[in-house]
Amino acid sequence: SPSAYPVDVLIVGGGIGGLSAAFALAREGLRVRVLEQAREFGEVGAGLQIAPNCTRILHDYGLLDEAKHLGVLPKSMVMRDAVDGSELTRLDLVDLEREYGFPYMVIHRSDLHGIFLRACRRAGVDLITDARVSGYENTVSGARVLLADGRVDKARIVIAADGLHSVARRLLVDDEPVSSSYVAYRAALPIEQVGRDVDLSEVSVHVGPRCHFVRYGLRGGAMLNQVAVFQSPKALAGEEDWGTPDELDDAFAATCPDVQAGIPLMWRDRWWRMFDRDPIMTWGDGGIALLGDAAHPPLQYMAQGAIMAIEDGWVLAKHVAARRAEDGSIDWQGALAAYEAVRPEHCRRVLTTARAWGELWHLDGVARLQRNTLLRARDTYDYSFTDWIYGPTALTPEEEPPMFSPIPLDSVDVSGLADRVEA
Ligand code: FAD
Repeated sequence: SPSAYPVDVLIVGGGIGGLSAAFALAREGLRVRVLEQAREFGEVGAGLQIAPNCTRILHDYGLLDEAKHLGVLPKSMVMRDAVDGSELTRLDLVDLEREYGFPYMVIHRSDLHGIFLRACRRAGVDLITDARVSGYENTVSGARVLLADGRVDKARIVIAADGLHSVARRLLVDDEPVSSSYVAYRAALPIEQVGRDVDLSEVSVHVGPRCHFVRYGLRGGAMLNQVAVFQSPKALAGEEDWGTPDELDDAFAATCPDVQAGIPLMWRDRWWRMFDRDPIMTWGDGGIALLGDAAHPPLQYMAQGAIMAIEDGWVLAKHVAARRAEDGSIDWQGALAAYEAVRPEHCRRVLTTARAWGELWHLDGVARLQRNTLLRARDTYDYSFTDWIYGPTALTPEEEPPMFSPIPLDSVDVSGLADRVEA
């Protein structure tokens, strides 16, 4: 019986995925504990883009107003060519909100993480830090985790939300992170330190040969967020020490003045090498299931990584709630099966599209010009390629909309990516 366990659900990892799933399950009345390896709950990094498929869930959780208060609702998203600065295509985010019923938002990572942390506290989630999980095991009626310090904990089910380097994933597949040879530099700084006028009503993306640059406002416009991403020549040459700041300036040397003005503001003491993993379609083993980056770490070109993690927890909690009997018992295997019937395929689509999208952004020569022609031809108010992402999160495979892209993704060569493997 469920009461044989101190909690119903153990969640490993207190990132955005783990905490949002903990909240989703706790608000269904479950007893939930989160085990986080760090000494404190927190997030490093800068901004996050949160599309309507996620603000819809924040609304369902009663957390959207708080998020809106801390974030920014930009009016447009504009993609430009990084070399000549010309506009390629745009989304009208005011109209997009009308289309999908929920806004497109940008928010500081630590603010979104904090919203879920406070919501977990209010919902009575048991939040444990300094707890690194090193092993997992199914038992007759539940699952057990082994902590690095020798402690053991158990629950009816264990959700592993332990990120890109997931230990739990090894139960299911023997794979490694795939290096893209690209690296991201970030900066989030007070607007006074920017030293020039920047239009914070837009999310701006400049795409260029082997590089791109993203810029938007945070905290009601009090901060500017920038991301500068480029392919590292040292990574391609097989050098260990790749993605270092000396490569940053070279990578953006041929970009337009608007992009170049942003580069000196980038943080230079920290950078993020970009890895994803090949999609996997099995996320569960008995009473243990993967969630978030542990299951589906993407390249960030679709800006859906954290969103997919939040969707995972929402979908799982809905299936758990639908399978609870009057005596409170839950058909856990049914709930996990329903989760696994719908989420891996959606995330597989996002992961593969993100790879292709990245290749498309970074084209050079004639291919770049062809891309620009295709993007310029897109009607601003044509939402056929965002419907499958920004529409309501599917609870069943039947609800999952067909995938559509205005760009023939098959024509973009992503075959080389899998060869550039490096842990
Ligand atoms: P993580 O955030 O990695 O959290 C895992 C947690 O588990 C951590 O707290 C870790 O300490 C803990 N942990 C790990 N191992 C153990 C263990 N053994 N025991 C206990 N605890 C453990 N996504 C978007 O939606 N929108 C964006 O605009 C966006 N932009 C991005 C830009 C960049 C440059 C990058 C790199 C990513 C971006 N993403 C974006 C993706 C997003 O950041 C991730 O997909 C998301 O943070 C994953 O959340 P998670 O909770 O699954 O994993």
